[in-house]
Amino acid sequence: MIKLTVRVVRLFVHWLYTKTIPATSWYVVWSPIIDRSLKPGMYDAWVQEVFIVLIKAYVFGDKFLATGFRQDVHRKFSNLLSGYCLTLPGGCQVIEYAFNNVPSDRVMLQHLVDDYCSQWDETQLDHVSVRIPKWLPRAFPVRVERRFAELRSMINNVGNRSRCYYEHTSAEERKKCRYLHMFYHEVEEYGYFYDDYWRR
Ligand SMILES: [Zn+2]
Repeated sequence: MIKLTVRVVRLFVHWLYTKTIPATSWYVVWSPIIDRSLKPGMYDAWVQEVFIVLIKAYVFGDKFLATGFRQDVHRKFSNLLSGYCLTLPGGCQVIEYAFNNVPSDRVMLQHLVDDYCSQWDETQLDHVSVRIPKWLPRAFPVRVERRFAELRSMINNVGNRSRCYYEHTSAEERKKCRYLHMFYHEVEEYGYFYDDYWRR
């Protein structure tokens, strides 16, 4: 049995009256639904709340066979995910909720995986913990792994500028090499590849 939240009920009531899910930019309608006013500079956090309500509303519509509602919510969720990034910590809550409550064959789950693999980077996550939290349902990292395998073959086929894995013996030699070189990041314990030009 799913827990019905007040926010989902508010959205459902709005939908009953208007037969629409409000556009995300319609702050005056969304703010009372998510119970949070939009403060300057807080847009990202605000959107994450909208994501959370939408995923819960989707599951609600699914379980209670409110099909029209579910479809409208899904359309909104899908558009929002294509336009905005999920970020921590709300983003992982959305993924967790979706993978625990949405049937495996729904495209929404794959959309979350694809979005994670192509969009989540250091600008979304805090720099140190660019990793999938352990508490997320296992189906998520399993799909992520597969998606990365797909992307890998795509990258290898697209004549991307290659990375140089040599330890050049002199700065001169390195300068002559036209490939990308690694710069090790101590805190993140990871080697990033850049064009030397941008690091001079
Ligand atoms: Zn090189």
